[in-house]
Amino acid sequence: MACAPAPVDRRALVDGHGRTISYLRISVTDRCDLRCRYCMSEQMTFLPRDALLRLEEIALIAERFIARGVRKIRLTGGEPLVRRDAIDLARRLGRRIGDGLDELTLTTNGMRLAEHAPALFDAGVRRVNVSLDSRDPDIFRYITRHGEVAQVLAGIAAAQAAGLAVKINMVALKGLNGAEIAPMLEWCVDQRLDLTLIETMPVGVIDEDRAERFLPLTGVLAELQERFPLVRDDHRSGGPARYWRMEGTSTRLGLISPLTSNFCDTCNRVRLTTEGKLYMCLGQDDHADLKAAIRSGGLPALDEAIDRALSLKPARHDFRIDARAPAVARHMSVTGG
Ligand code: SAM
Ligand code: SF4
Repeated sequence: MACAPAPVDRRALVDGHGRTISYLRISVTDRCDLRCRYCMSEQMTFLPRDALLRLEEIALIAERFIARGVRKIRLTGGEPLVRRDAIDLARRLGRRIGDGLDELTLTTNGMRLAEHAPALFDAGVRRVNVSLDSRDPDIFRYITRHGEVAQVLAGIAAAQAAGLAVKINMVALKGLNGAEIAPMLEWCVDQRLDLTLIETMPVGVIDEDRAERFLPLTGVLAELQERFPLVRDDHRSGGPARYWRMEGTSTRLGLISPLTSNFCDTCNRVRLTTEGKLYMCLGQDDHADLKAAIRSGGLPALDEAIDRALSLKPARHDFRIDARAPAVARHMSVTGG
């Protein structure tokens, strides 16, 4: 049973369960140029454009979070690089690195990374996560419905050439890319990339049954440990991953396994959607409308809304892959994965 929330400390971002919030993820758009099967349906409906926050509003909200103790911001989506002013936002927030902000990062599908990597580096971004669920062109196209893997690989190379450290995100999908996980790890070692494996999460309605593609990472890890010299690494990225390192290399293997091992006790993050809603949990519906607050009452109203939101942050998600309906109707692309 969840404990009764304690009153919120107004100065710091501490939630009702005593967790300090230091990490803000911003979904800068819910739109995307791909349609990954585990993420959204082929005929996905996107938010109307007039419902979205303007760049100036996103920046003001993010800066308020920095003023109140957020030290890391990730721009994500949807696909952040399909929003035309995403780089302008990165430039603006990048100015706060070393001035309240420790790090500005980005999660992307890599399709437009070759074009934008130098500008991201100039904005102050030093690390990007790139989704790559398969290096096989046909499997990649099947999973993403439209993606060209060569374009993503070119984006990864361009990012590295621009000076960005790249981590690969790979969602483990039974019957689709399970056999590619070990080769992907070997390739990441060769390319000096980190790799994070992710369990598919039941968020948003899609065209297929997620349970049929669910590949528990507990078994995947056991197989990888038999093949490779993996040592436990106590690195903390501020995220939910647990880490291993390939001995003798710089490659870190992360596992995000919300279904097989819950990570909510140490959750330090909140998520701002492109329409200005602040969600306290990827897998719960509690939220606050920061767009309404900032438009009606400026920064004081924004502070009030943030405080109210923190008191609502749930203790944990309730993901169950075998449940008939997703844990929440909202897709990961809306909340910001
Ligand atoms: N479009 C960008 C991308 O794909 O990297 C950023 C947004 S995407 C929502 C962020 C991450 O969430 C990606 O690594 C993606 O694979 C992952 N993701 C999306 N839907 C998911 C789901 N239902 N379960 C687990 N991971 C998911
Ligand atoms: Fe787009 Fe990322 Fe979702 Fe794939 S996972 S459909 S790239 S938002």
